[in-house]
Amino acid sequence: NKQVILKDYVVGFPKESDMEFKTSKINLKLPEDSNGILLKNLYLSCDPYMRSRMTKHDRPTYVESFVPGSPIMGYGVSKVLDSRHPDYKVGDVVWGITGWEEYSLISSPQFFFKIEHTDVPLSYYTGILGMPGMTAYAGFYEVGSPKKGDRVFVSAASGAVGQLVGQLAKLNGCYVVGSAGSKEKVDLLKNKFGFDEAFNYKEEKDLDAALRRYFPEGIDIYFENVGGKMLEAVLSNMRLHGRIPTCGMISQYNLEQPEGVHNLFEIIAKRIRMEGFIVFDYYHLYPKYLEMILPHIREGKVSYVEDVAEGLESAPAALIGIYSGRNVGKQLVVVSRD
Ligand code: NDP
Repeated sequence: NKQVILKDYVVGFPKESDMEFKTSKINLKLPEDSNGILLKNLYLSCDPYMRSRMTKHDRPTYVESFVPGSPIMGYGVSKVLDSRHPDYKVGDVVWGITGWEEYSLISSPQFFFKIEHTDVPLSYYTGILGMPGMTAYAGFYEVGSPKKGDRVFVSAASGAVGQLVGQLAKLNGCYVVGSAGSKEKVDLLKNKFGFDEAFNYKEEKDLDAALRRYFPEGIDIYFENVGGKMLEAVLSNMRLHGRIPTCGMISQYNLEQPEGVHNLFEIIAKRIRMEGFIVFDYYHLYPKYLEMILPHIREGKVSYVEDVAEGLESAPAALIGIYSGRNVGKQLVVVSRD
């Protein structure tokens, strides 16, 4: 069983050498007294929050740190090879938190969703039909309270979450602008995902001026994925009673000292509602979300771009790549296609 192991807690930007491979024997039959499931992992998801699990925290946070010397854990799509648990049978395909390894023994499988719809690519359950999809949906609708005609700005807009937020905003009759870190991504936003406008934030000397250009009347909803200087520029451009579904702040995840945001008073002056959220508080809405999104995918009304890394060997590079924007679309790793 080949595994990707976290060698030690990470300080600063993670590197491939923070991880190593280990191969060990695994019994592909569960013992009689087990109450668990044995999974064959097919697709692994590279998600920005995993950086937080590589840090040793000095106070409790919403996810536990990884254990150095053990496999990295993350969302994945897996097939049930053996089951001693009444809710799962051999041959089921599930998505949930699994190990970065070929096979995973899950002793108490409470956090898996069974995959019922297999007419769409299975890899989508690492993205649009999995955790990032639910994040976009919950953040935009439940936290963002969108109205038709709202002016919406999305940062990290070509990524796993952002590309869907933009498309949901368009379906909802909003004007939507996205920022991303390359020309290729900006083209995707405009030509594939139907954003009204998009810009490369790395080429803008003055983010405040860029936002004023696209939002002369201000922003109603900012779907926050990056934090830092972008947040500061956005706060100056928010409209009265604007909403900021605060999803992530990837620009801060590898900094030992987070950047300051100096204009938080805008939140008061403009009566902005800035609300952080974590996707797992909204998983009860998953069936409702699937009902909404599956027809859109089948009819081609919503598209989804993936960045696919082949083989478990490519997983460390794929994971660290998301912190420098190397990924174009949802970053995932194929361990096995069946
Ligand atoms: P992406 O697929 O968007 O990958 C990350 C992207 O972030 C990169 O491709 C890069 O794109 C951008 N990025 C990286 N570093 C920086 C930086 N320093 N400044 C600005 N942009 C940067 O990831 P996801 O769509 O999966 O996640 C997007 C955000 O949503 C993250 O902040 C994540 O933590 C958050 N999230 C929150 C959840 C929740 O429950 N609250 C659940 C899931 C995700 P570019 O080339 O455009 O710079």
